[in-house]
Amino acid sequence: SPRTLLALNWKMNKTPTEAQAWAQDLAAAYAPAEGVDLAVMAPAICLPALAANLPAGVSVGAQDVSAHAAGAYTGEISASMLVDVGARYAVVGHSERRDYQGETDAVVAAKAAQAQAHGLTPIVCVGEKLEVRERGEHVPFTLDQLRGSLRGVGPDVVVAYEPVWAIGTGKTATADDAEELAGAIRGLLSELYGDQASNLRVLYGGSVKPDNIASICAQPNVDGALVGGASLKVADVLGMNDAL
Ligand code: 13P
Repeated sequence: SPRTLLALNWKMNKTPTEAQAWAQDLAAAYAPAEGVDLAVMAPAICLPALAANLPAGVSVGAQDVSAHAAGAYTGEISASMLVDVGARYAVVGHSERRDYQGETDAVVAAKAAQAQAHGLTPIVCVGEKLEVRERGEHVPFTLDQLRGSLRGVGPDVVVAYEPVWAIGTGKTATADDAEELAGAIRGLLSELYGDQASNLRVLYGGSVKPDNIASICAQPNVDGALVGGASLKVADVLGMNDAL
């Protein structure tokens, strides 16, 4: 099975100055855990400060990327710009962007394909809202969303299952809930990418913290976590890294 990915999503937090101090604090204390990769998905404007100050082996990524290569798209940031400042990953289709920016599966797929065209690995996010889970439709809903979000997207991809009801709420899915979806996602990845599916990373996200990360990531189809709130403090990140 693939190496575990501890992926941090800072969301709209930290200035470049704060990012530099954070990276220096991490560098002073971080020791890579066996079999675990660490990556920081930061506001794009923080990426140069992170790339210059993070310890060796820690990757950086963006939280979004334009669906277009270049041109008259005011305010957008392209994949090649992100690569130029050291990014290795780009999150696409986070539920906050689907909700607040109205991103559709087709837009998410276009962004993921654009990322791949420039050598970034997209972290494609999917997951159901509470009412979908209450209707018992979380598996087909999430797989349908993922199928649409991977149309035209190649196998160099990470998938993050983030049930919307577990994001920032303190309500973590149980390890069994995470495994139910991660296994179903693995099945869809096999259908799309054949044998390569077993090497692809499927992450869980939603109220992951130092005290619950180990049991979730111990599930056979869960290859890491995408962490919001607990990604902001170096001490919590070290705690999660140590727990894995
Ligand atoms: P929390 O860890 O704050 O619940 O956020 C999860 C998330 O949305 C990561 O992308």
